[in-house]
Order: sequence, then C-alpha cells, then structure tokens
Amino acid sequence: MKNRPDPRPETLAAQADHFLDPATGAIVPPLVASTTFARNDDYSLRAATSYSRYGTANWQQAEGLIAKLEGAAAAAVLASGLAAAAAVVMTLRPGQRIVVHDTMYWGFLAWLKDFSRQWNLDLVLVDMTDLAALERALAKPTEIVWFESPTNPLWQVLDIAAIAKLGKAAGARVCLDSTVATPVLTRPLSLGCDLVMHSATKYLNGHSDVLAGALAVAKADEWWERILFNRTSVGASLGPFEAWLLLRGMRTLYPRVRQASETALTLATHLASHPKVERVLYPGLPSHPGHEVARRQMQGGFGGMLSILVKGGGEAALRVCTATELFHRATSLGSVESLIEHRHTVEGVHGVSPPALLRLSVGLEHPDDLLADLEQALAKA
Ligand SMILES: *Cc1c(COP(=O)(O)O)cnc(C)c1O
Repeated sequence: MKNRPDPRPETLAAQADHFLDPATGAIVPPLVASTTFARNDDYSLRAATSYSRYGTANWQQAEGLIAKLEGAAAAAVLASGLAAAAAVVMTLRPGQRIVVHDTMYWGFLAWLKDFSRQWNLDLVLVDMTDLAALERALAKPTEIVWFESPTNPLWQVLDIAAIAKLGKAAGARVCLDSTVATPVLTRPLSLGCDLVMHSATKYLNGHSDVLAGALAVAKADEWWERILFNRTSVGASLGPFEAWLLLRGMRTLYPRVRQASETALTLATHLASHPKVERVLYPGLPSHPGHEVARRQMQGGFGGMLSILVKGGGEAALRVCTATELFHRATSLGSVESLIEHRHTVEGVHGVSPPALLRLSVGLEHPDDLLADLEQALAKA
C-alpha cells in the first residue's frame, strides 16, 4: 500500500522510475550487452526477449520512463529520431494521404518527399498556422497529420489542441514531433495528439553522445503494433549502450530543460534590443506571433532554442558565427553545451532559413558568459 501521492514526472525521471535491481540491489540499471537470451529446460523463454533486435532490458527501462513522462499507454525507443518518424510513415499504404506542416526538420521532410514519390503517398504540405487551410487540406480522407511545435529553425508555434481536434474530426492519426518542447514543457497526448515523437538525440539524452529516437502513443492499438513491427523488422533497433545512456541522461531532463529555457529567455530578451540584431525569434517573447498559444501549451518555460536575424544579412551573420568563443559552431541541439549554427549554409536545397539567421541552442553555461560571448561576436558583425 502506498502512503503517498503518485510521484511527479521530475521524481520519476530523477530516479529512473525508482529502479532497483532485485539481483544485486543496484539502483543504477546494469548494461545488458548480450544479443541473445537463453531458454529454460522446457524451452520457454527466460526473459521477455530472445534476441536483442526485438528488445533488451535497457530499452524497456527507457521506454517505461518515457511512457510515464508523456502520460502514454506505451513508448518505444529506436535507432534515431528519423528511424522513429519513418516507422510511423511506413504504416501508410500506397495512395493514402499524409498532411504535414510546411516547415519541419529538414531531414525528415526531404526523406518524406522522396518516400512519398516512391510509395505513391498523397503528401500534402500546408501552413498549419492557418487552421482554415488545414481544414481544407483535411477535406479528403487523411490517415496521418504530422507537425512540430515550436518549429525548427523559425520557432513558429502551432496550436496543438486545435490541430489535434481538426485532425481527429477528419479521422486522421495526429502525430507531433515534440523534440524541442520535451515532456517537461508540453504533454501533447493530453492536448489530443495520438502519437508523440522525439529525436532522443537532443534533450531527452541531453549530452550529445547518443543517437536515438522515441515514440509514445495514447492507445496501444493495432496501428501501434504495426509501428513496432516496422521498427524491429527492418532492424531500426537501439543498441543497449545507447538505451543505457539515454536513461542516464533523462534523470536530469527536468532541471536541464528548465535552466536552458530560463537562460534562453534571458538571452532573447537582451538580444531583442541589441543594435546589431534585426529580430529575435523566440516563443517566450511577448512580441512573438505565437506567444499566446505558447503560454497555453508550454508549462514552465518556452524552451532552449532561439534564432536571431543579424543586421547586415548573410555575411554579417557569418562574421558573428565565426567569432564566438564559447558557443561551439556545430549542428544539433538540446545538449548541455551551447551551439550556434548558420542554417543557410547547412540546409542546402531544402532550406527555409534566411541568410541572416543564426540558430542558437542554449546549454547550461552561466548566462552572463553566454551573453558576453554573443556581445563580443556581435561587435564583429
Ligand atoms: C534532430 C531532429 C530530428 C531527427 O532526429 P535524429 O535523431 O537526428 O534522427 C527530428 N526532428 C527534430 C525536431 C530534430 O531536431
């Protein structure tokens, strides 16, 4: 019998779901490297799995925690964020329709366009900040609605509850890439989504040392079974060490995301009135067009990601980017160290970033150090 209320998500994360190894008393899960698992004398399986492509104890621990943090019926970890997204899209059959927001993680959109052509999917791109446009796009039978919020790298905020309502009214499965918001700030299933996807490479792990993806669902139905089949049948399985590192990283998820959000708001507020900065894109600023929606669907912060538009265009932005001394010039996001990136240079043909844009992933360094670094770099614009 429990003498206390159910633990809050921060408590579950900090304790890795109160892990305790019955065999050894260890409170840190052991790394199970074995790929194969023995059978009993009567040939029954000893463990839940026979072979590690189908799962290992280290997966199950990470999945159990993610499911609880998202308030999900079930969760799955996969080899990368893109593997997770692909496992969902591959439930579609030729001719079926998928409606997506017109800007999202470029790598996924590039793959989706290519796969849709090959697989004869009816892929529809729509600006979901315009709910009437979304409703028109959903007039034909639609299987999947897919979007992100905030969107990378312009940090548009999409109204999750409104999009989920329209999607479900049209009979679609509503899926959200919640990598940037994390379960700390937004719980998409409670806002009506059917499925949440994470690039666990980012905030969930948080230390730039694991490539992983995660999915969590409101209902563990036949569709979910097909997604799990897509994962293991093509071998998009996460290695046990990656799962182990992911669980370890998630223990500090809540304080990391809250600190990064606080520092990002400090930087955004400061940069908004900087003479060398044209505009700051950050949902936490009252001037941001999505601020009111963000206040409704993000709790306790607006995330650690922002972009700035440097006055003087692309060349000025590159001068700033190449002058930082603490911000690493590197891609990716959601880790303990701060990163800066000139997206226009790296996006190529699928790009949406104007040349003046610099994307900042705010880490856990002292905010004054980060500000001082940006100040000296902006002086070179
Ligand atoms: C990084 C990222 C992905 C892709 O995830 P990988 O783990 O790199 O495969 C998808 N969506 C968003 C928002 C991302 O930031």
